[in-house]
Amino acid sequence: MQNEIDLTLKSDFIEQIKNGYPLISKECVEDWSTITQEGSILRLIDKKKNFIAKGYYGLQNKGQSWVLSRKADEAIDTDFFKHKIKAALAYRKDFFANEQTTAFRVLNGEGDGIGGLSIDYFEGYYLFTWYSIGIYELKEMILEAFKQSVDFKGIYQKKRFDTKGRYLDDNNDFVCGKEAPRPLHVKENGAKFAIYLDDGAMVGVFLDQRDVRKAIRDKYAKDKTVLNTFSYTGAFSVFAALGGAKSTTSVDLAKRSLPKTKEQFSINNIDLEKQNIVVEDVFLYFKYAVRKKLLFDMVVVDPPSFARSKKHTFSASKDYVKLLKEVIQITNSGGIIVASTNAANFSMMTFRGFIDKAFKELKIKYKVQESYSLPKDFRVAEKFKESDYLKVVFVQRVK
Ligand code: SAH
Repeated sequence: MQNEIDLTLKSDFIEQIKNGYPLISKECVEDWSTITQEGSILRLIDKKKNFIAKGYYGLQNKGQSWVLSRKADEAIDTDFFKHKIKAALAYRKDFFANEQTTAFRVLNGEGDGIGGLSIDYFEGYYLFTWYSIGIYELKEMILEAFKQSVDFKGIYQKKRFDTKGRYLDDNNDFVCGKEAPRPLHVKENGAKFAIYLDDGAMVGVFLDQRDVRKAIRDKYAKDKTVLNTFSYTGAFSVFAALGGAKSTTSVDLAKRSLPKTKEQFSINNIDLEKQNIVVEDVFLYFKYAVRKKLLFDMVVVDPPSFARSKKHTFSASKDYVKLLKEVIQITNSGGIIVASTNAANFSMMTFRGFIDKAFKELKIKYKVQESYSLPKDFRVAEKFKESDYLKVVFVQRVK
């Protein structure tokens, strides 16, 4: 068992932590100087040394430490993590039972009681993503707990923290078990995706958009001309095509998007004839579309929160209105815009405000059809709703 280090919380923050708030940010503690080692188990106490909670020290942009337990006598050991992992898997029981979907999240950070870690399931393989050095220091214990609780084919990992030159181990994403085929074919609501578990930071699909893809296929795509901007591997285009879209156009700046998108279409037996894949800066494509008087029946817009290309810097919080105005102008009247963002630094209300502003500035009417946030497997802690970063709004351009 690990040593626990006492850390005194400022009184202003005690109620909040007691009530279930899982994050200890810098300002919650007067003096951090006694804590030096990431991965240290902290005993959070008040000024009178009363126990409040236990957490671990792991630096992320969000804060310094995640709460793990509110029980003074609960040890943070292999058994502790086993309980968390088993509960997380039980919560996804319906997903495991559904043969049409074989890729989903099984543990979502603090939503499942272990901030700083996510675990995704891909057809028998598991992908661990570590978000700080601190949680990575607890890796042995967590992997041991996992191996004792779960049948798996193989385990992979991603390190999403800056090691600042520190030696942690090699860069190999494969951890143990059997290596996955390359590509690994998974299913999502009956469609297929090609997944590469050891090919850089992204594996080929963003699982959090599952419900949005399904809506596009089942409710919106039929007979439409669809433009998918910031298309990555074309996951939205695949679902649009499967839903009977007249044509799809996928635009992404990254060269890899061309072969990757072709691959997703072909494993779904989609006729490539009607699918257009463009490797280009989206902002240049808009100019081209306006010049050519192209209009689409549906446009999907899912930019990264922040991106820098040769010509542009894009920040969702600053530039979304401008982006939408470009999109609206190449959308048919009556057409649908799927406006999406994963930016965690503004709310759904603010996002709806961006949409409203873009249409108002162009003096065009719109109607919101429906909106989405994170799906059920991306479990959000009851007292930490701000971690639900996903905002997707289906908007109809009226006239
Ligand atoms: N919508 C995608 C995920 C987008 S990831 C999906 O759901 O699968 C963000 C993508 O935006 C990346 O593939 C990146 O290459 C692309 N990108 C970033 N800036 C861009 C730009 N200015 N023009 C075109 N693509 C861009």
